[in-house]
Amino acid sequence: MNYLLKKENLPKFLELLKKKFDQVIVPVKNETGATCFQPYSGQEIFLEARTDFSAKEFFRPAKEKTFSFKKKNSSYEIKPEYDTAKKVLFGVRPCGTHALNTLDELFIKFFGEDQFYSNKRKNTTIIAFQCNKACENGFCASMGTSKAIGHDLLFIERGNDFFVRAETEKGTSLLDSALFKHTSDSEYSSKINCENELDTEDIEENLFSNFNHSVWKEESERCLSCTSCTQSCPTCYCYTSNDEFVFGSDNESERFRVLDSCQLQRFTKVAGNHLFRPSREGRLRQFVLHKFSYYKKHHCIHLCVGCGRCITACPVKISLVDIANKIQKHSLEESK
Ligand code: SF4
Ligand code: SF4
Repeated sequence: MNYLLKKENLPKFLELLKKKFDQVIVPVKNETGATCFQPYSGQEIFLEARTDFSAKEFFRPAKEKTFSFKKKNSSYEIKPEYDTAKKVLFGVRPCGTHALNTLDELFIKFFGEDQFYSNKRKNTTIIAFQCNKACENGFCASMGTSKAIGHDLLFIERGNDFFVRAETEKGTSLLDSALFKHTSDSEYSSKINCENELDTEDIEENLFSNFNHSVWKEESERCLSCTSCTQSCPTCYCYTSNDEFVFGSDNESERFRVLDSCQLQRFTKVAGNHLFRPSREGRLRQFVLHKFSYYKKHHCIHLCVGCGRCITACPVKISLVDIANKIQKHSLEESK
């Protein structure tokens, strides 16, 4: 079923959602001017473009307590901490829905269920928001991610209204308000003309077989290992674990999962002080190959959804699209 909601009634709809959910998460401009997702408390909603930071924070937070533990005689008492709050995430872009699908593949399907992640996913209703123009550095058209997937409702701007499409029963149940008027119209387009284009044909094999291509060294020479690319990426998930003692407690400690970055040299250090990727060249290559080659081989989908955030965030303008296109062009010339 499809509906229309007057744009001016969006705050009223969000207030209604607040009565049904523990948390309503929306895109906003924060106090530093960056755009990101935050719990709704009457702020102005940012819908002009995709946000600088994705909604990953609400599924794979930068720092997440997983359990507390305490020594008891010869064993340990362990108390896991699952987030089971009922949430609704409004305004996630199509590439954002694909990013969640990519993470589901790993944290729900591949190794079995990671309950810290899956609880949040199961308890979050997704309201997607269709883009009507390309965003800065985005290349969703090349990655096939310009149409939302796995969402409960879809909002599309249409003049003074939002055209609202219910995709699931959960989504339909949110529309039981006089704010929504039924419409027989059902058409919408998810076509986006992105300036940034990536040739994805055989990209997995071509990047891998060009492991020693000169582009890795050329591009990585200006990399600062600042990790802006991995921090802004909606699909980067690599983490480390930290234990922290709870001061003033009776010998209790807490385990935290903390997002890490493949762009840091210490991330590649293993026992015996061995560094797997001591050079920036190796680390940048790992980032790009993980996005376009390794993950696809294991999970049949790319670990990149073409949002362009890493390109926008990079202070020295390193672009994984430019790198991959150079190798694609080289592979094409070689095959002639
Ligand atoms: S690698 Fe870059 S373009 Fe791809 S999903 Fe991550 S931030 Fe977006
Ligand atoms: S954002 Fe750019 S400079 Fe910073 S680590 Fe990533 S590629 Fe290197």
